[in-house]
Amino acid sequence: MSIVSHTFPGKISLASLLLLGLSACQTTVPSSASNQVQEQPAAHNNFNSVLWYQTSAEFRANSIQTYRQATDLLSKAKNDNQWTVWPQANAANLPPAIIVDIDETILDNSPAAAQDILTNAAFSDASWDRWVSLAKADAVPGAVAFVNAAEAMGIKVLYISNRACSKRANTPSACPQKDDTLKNLQAVGIQQISAAQLWLKAEQPDWSSEKESRRQLAMQSYRVIMSVGDDFGDFLPNVKKNITPAQRAALVDQYQAHWGTKFFMLPNPTYGSWDTILDQPKQQYLRGF
Ligand SMILES: [Mg+2]
Repeated sequence: MSIVSHTFPGKISLASLLLLGLSACQTTVPSSASNQVQEQPAAHNNFNSVLWYQTSAEFRANSIQTYRQATDLLSKAKNDNQWTVWPQANAANLPPAIIVDIDETILDNSPAAAQDILTNAAFSDASWDRWVSLAKADAVPGAVAFVNAAEAMGIKVLYISNRACSKRANTPSACPQKDDTLKNLQAVGIQQISAAQLWLKAEQPDWSSEKESRRQLAMQSYRVIMSVGDDFGDFLPNVKKNITPAQRAALVDQYQAHWGTKFFMLPNPTYGSWDTILDQPKQQYLRGF
């Protein structure tokens, strides 16, 4: 996860704006006893989104539904040597692979976001790295069964993640985040995985939060048959900055036939490029009637 692009709880979601609007109306409550004004704490700007992520049956069902659809298509996609996510001239002779994102696709990091809410803190690199170092994220529902099914069928799973490598005090590894992430992925039950399958941000000079160069690299060695993520940038280049919601929506529609066949999108209302592309004030994007 990129610390630069991963603005996690620091950004305000649309749902949270609504919540803030509500709380603004409810902040001052007259006391009938003293007629004094009691201040209620304002809601954290990620409260509603994280609550939905952690408690809703709707989130769980949505994730399971997405992974079931992907799992059901594994065999068809593997056996059709013309089946590729993106155009690949040489695809037919290459072994099949799937590209998955990690954060909020395979691993559920909502406890890190919840902790920031509980402590009324903004997102920070230090708190995020502390969470990564614990290697205790649970899996997103449906994810582990999906990747295990793919690997069991001989489909390589490549984990292209914007978790960034950075040195940590008292740790000799150049990328302790990679060690932690591998440990976490194994802990949730992923059976066939090695460090070589994890392609983290900044491991190579051109591996930025824009994932396109890593996708192109994957396509040199594999026929990529599916992509799974929670951010539009997990699927297409140039969609994470200098773009409007309308332009992104038009691109989604342009790839209509990909969704649910080659592109599989997990829900994430808690952070993402959907949020970081918005200009201030974000209220301008709300559509009333
Ligand atoms: Mg992600």
